Amino acid sequence: MEFCFTTIASGSSGNCIYIGSEKNNLLIDAGISGKKVEQGLATIGVDPSNLNGIFITHEHHDHIKGVGVLARRYRLPIYATPLTWQAIEQMDTIVGDIPQECKQVVQKDKEILINDIVVQPYGIPHDAAEPVAYSFYKNKKKISVATDLGHTNDYIEKNLAESNLILLEANHDIDMLEVGAYPYFLKQRILGSSGHLCNEVAGQILSRLYHPKLEVAILGHLSRENNFPALAYQTVYNELVADDIGLLSSFQLKVAEREGVTDIYQI
Ligand SMILES: [Zn+2]
Ligand SMILES: [Zn+2]
Repeated sequence: MEFCFTTIASGSSGNCIYIGSEKNNLLIDAGISGKKVEQGLATIGVDPSNLNGIFITHEHHDHIKGVGVLARRYRLPIYATPLTWQAIEQMDTIVGDIPQECKQVVQKDKEILINDIVVQPYGIPHDAAEPVAYSFYKNKKKISVATDLGHTNDYIEKNLAESNLILLEANHDIDMLEVGAYPYFLKQRILGSSGHLCNEVAGQILSRLYHPKLEVAILGHLSRENNFPALAYQTVYNELVADDIGLLSSFQLKVAEREGVTDIYQI
């Protein structure tokens, strides 16, 4: 086993993901309160003072809400792309001050080594300053986390390829979104090429990415208003079955809980 993985929160109202290894306790995003992050970590037996860093995907509220509190309380490194830092600094009412020594910069397509894990950030299309997804490598294992993206392309799918665990966004059901109560501009934003992935497209992407060493695919960042877990699961499952993938026993398809720790995966 190289990695330990779980979601502490995943959805349009807050995201926080944990990746651990022998020498690391990392978070991707902290878009819930600092207290909820601490509670989630306590559930899996991780002391927040042993965190080695938080990797930020982008500056939207549901990804950074607790970052300031955690940075001030634990003085841990926070990694984000240059324009994401600029955007966060302009929104200091959400996160408050982040100590200067905690601010670490990552660049798209430049891997960074954190103890025993190599972290690779890569750009994704989303209506934020400089959003990224991340892949994590340790020995021959790879975990990828990609949420908040309007679409994929060859570059993104190459970065996601050969993962042993993928957390992929399945944000909305198009029909629920279209008949739902959201205002027109917001529907257009979500459906747009820099918005969010719908269930069908998430299924098609997973189908293309499937390979025999993919152990777990977790659907995440579900919309509270325009999706629900059983629908996301079934829609993606149907896409996989259509390509003869869903029936393999060596592969698990899961849906992340919106709040609270989902299953813990050892990869
Ligand atoms: Zn976003
Ligand atoms: Zn989001």
